[in-house]
Amino acid sequence: MNPLYDRLFGAHEGKSTPFLLLPSGKVLHHGDFLKMAAQFAHVLTRAGLQPGDRLAAQVEKSPQGLALYAACVQAGVVFLPLNTAYTHDELEYFVENSGAKLMVCDGATEEDLRPMAESLGAQLMTLNGDGTGSLPDAAQTQPVTFQTAERTENDLAALLYTSGTTGRSKGAMLTQANLLSNAETLVEYWRFTAQDVLIHALPIFHTHGLFVATNVTLLAGGAMIFLPKFDPDTIIARLPEATTMMGVPTFYTRLLEDTRFDRDLARHMRLFISGSAPLLAETHIRFEDRTGHRILERYGMTETNMSTSNPYEGDRRAGTVGVPLPGVELKVTDPDTDEELPRGEVGQIEVRGPNVFKGYWQMPEKTAAELRADGFFITGDLGVQDEDGYVTIVGRNKDLIISGGYNIYPKEIELVLDGQPGVLESAVIGVPHKDFGETAVAAIVPEKDQTPATEQLLSACVEQLARFKHPRKIITVDALPRNTMGKVQKNLLREAYKGLFVTD
Ligand code: ATP
Ligand code: MG
Repeated sequence: MNPLYDRLFGAHEGKSTPFLLLPSGKVLHHGDFLKMAAQFAHVLTRAGLQPGDRLAAQVEKSPQGLALYAACVQAGVVFLPLNTAYTHDELEYFVENSGAKLMVCDGATEEDLRPMAESLGAQLMTLNGDGTGSLPDAAQTQPVTFQTAERTENDLAALLYTSGTTGRSKGAMLTQANLLSNAETLVEYWRFTAQDVLIHALPIFHTHGLFVATNVTLLAGGAMIFLPKFDPDTIIARLPEATTMMGVPTFYTRLLEDTRFDRDLARHMRLFISGSAPLLAETHIRFEDRTGHRILERYGMTETNMSTSNPYEGDRRAGTVGVPLPGVELKVTDPDTDEELPRGEVGQIEVRGPNVFKGYWQMPEKTAAELRADGFFITGDLGVQDEDGYVTIVGRNKDLIISGGYNIYPKEIELVLDGQPGVLESAVIGVPHKDFGETAVAAIVPEKDQTPATEQLLSACVEQLARFKHPRKIITVDALPRNTMGKVQKNLLREAYKGLFVTD
């Protein structure tokens, strides 16, 4: 028995149903994908990997890269996909920290990584998206069936490192049950079927593209238009074949910049989903005006998979991440007392359910501090739940500004600034202040060819916000620093502006 393999993959063995629709127009069927995975699983086992061992993969997105995930599940190996943007030093930390026995990289980085693999005592194999490399070569001589490793729902399926937006990435231990239960819930909640064709332009090293998009498609038996990266031209060209799309908010803002993306092009689509970062209410509204579709926003994280979603039918509320998914309990608590707060009050978001991870890899103290004995996980996000159960994310606990003893939620100021003419977006951070401890500073990105006057922005804040919340300075920047998932890296902004008021 291997519940994750059996449900997601095994059910499609030998089938000639389409699974991956590739940019070349080629279609990879479920059965052929699984043959490739079984051959890879043989190679992993031949290389000495046992169930429970870790495999670290830093490879460009390709069908082969995805087959490696299936191979790991089939061989019982814990899959550890890594961002292709990680540098040599970052990679070394992940491989060393996880104790991975095998590293898989692209041919292009092999030479650079070989000494590292040797010094860490890990084997190294290559995997190229075009079907060449040491792993595919070895796979060709292997039989196409593989005796699936015995696993239980409580065994680890993946060690997925967090995005590192607020500090060093942590390895989240995800069990088969975590992944399976979430996929089952989402297929039902978002009504995925074998007829669905999902636009997949997300990376496959992150929970969004790997577990949400891929697992949901596999469980439903549908297909994915599998694109190496987000590119509006390709999406617009392939949209007529699709029924659904999952993306980060920047996908949607970029699509809205293109006038070809309109009601007619999107008319046959059933669903657009957004997550991983906040979707501006304005984007939500513009998207509906343009296409007639209301984007469905949901909220999740590496440690919890998906926790909340706006409903499939019913009220999709702009600016909210919807309601807790079936089986997920969510509460908002006071960070000082840990007491549950009444609806309508801002506090820390805690989540419990079969979706919640087992703990951080080799970080027992951090795990104990954030994963309570009763099963509730303290997400690190601040939010508020309304009377109907809809959750609004207010920001991250680490981004909360405490100025002269008052709490300032950056989002409150960002909403005022974003609403001003000429402002495309903003990010508010706390910087050290010699009298108040911290004070708010805003960075704004103007809309194209606009130069909004700082005095006007400040006077909007004065009109709408209490005095202690007024940003002390508004800085105009070309773009906000973002990581590959489109998340604003406020720690980089804080670092850049930390000296402003220390000696004021
Ligand atoms: P790290 O934990 O290493 O600092 P990270 O939290 O960015 O990185 P992920 O697990 O990839 O790593 O991201 C989860 C976070 O993304 C959530 O905790 C939340 O802050 C944010 N997020 C996800 N979906 C949404 C959403 N719909 N709206 C607002 N924020 C979201
Ligand atoms: Mg996090």
